[in-house]
Amino acid sequence: MTGKIVMVIGPSGVGKGTVVRELRARYPEIWFSISATTRAPRPGETNGVDYYYLTDDEFTELEESGGMLETAEVFGMNRYGTMAAPVDQAVADGKIALLEIDLDGARQVKAARPDAFGVFIAPPSFEELSRRLVGRGTEDPAAIAARLETARNELLAIDEFDAYVVNDSVESAARQLAELIGLPPR
Ligand code: ADP
Ligand code: 5GP
Repeated sequence: MTGKIVMVIGPSGVGKGTVVRELRARYPEIWFSISATTRAPRPGETNGVDYYYLTDDEFTELEESGGMLETAEVFGMNRYGTMAAPVDQAVADGKIALLEIDLDGARQVKAARPDAFGVFIAPPSFEELSRRLVGRGTEDPAAIAARLETARNELLAIDEFDAYVVNDSVESAARQLAELIGLPPR
């Protein structure tokens, strides 16, 4: 298999994490990029598994030394980024390097690595996206409102990348994603 960067893109709450979890369960050979962030871990999250949790200073140092493929400030307070070296190494090793990423980050990766394959995950409807975000229960009402406002704009980018998948059922979305990136049915 030839290595490539695959970006899973979409608004907060659309189900990227859930679909990617299903995909990784079926295809353990996929290499998954662990992002760096300055936000605090949520209950149940582990450093080095869900994210690398960095201080502001640590993040800045890495960014200024050219170690980030992309960075973003999400919702005006927390910084997120993808470290370049591990991604490039995974691709050189012939692996699918999967990036779960927001829209701005995806645009930066596409600019830096034009071969990166982008799949946009769309909700069945805006109302369903809102229900999922509320149902997840990880943000307060103000943060949910901010994410939905951002999502309304982000959904306009559905045709900007190489393909999109509607996350109706997790099983079907994961199957479509696998097919799009050239993985055999499993
Ligand atoms: P993201 O990673 O895009 O922010 P999550 O994976 O955290 O989104 O999903 C947001 C919420 O929606 C979670 O509570 C998740 O269980 C739920 N969810 C994800 N996909 C589906 C689906 N296909 N049908 C119903 N609920 C879903
Ligand atoms: P959360 O705090 O809910 O885990 O993630 C918030 C947002 O940050 C999500 O929309 C997620 O896609 C985005 N995000 C996570 N990691 C990265 C990253 O490495 N780069 C960019 N640009 N966005 C990221």
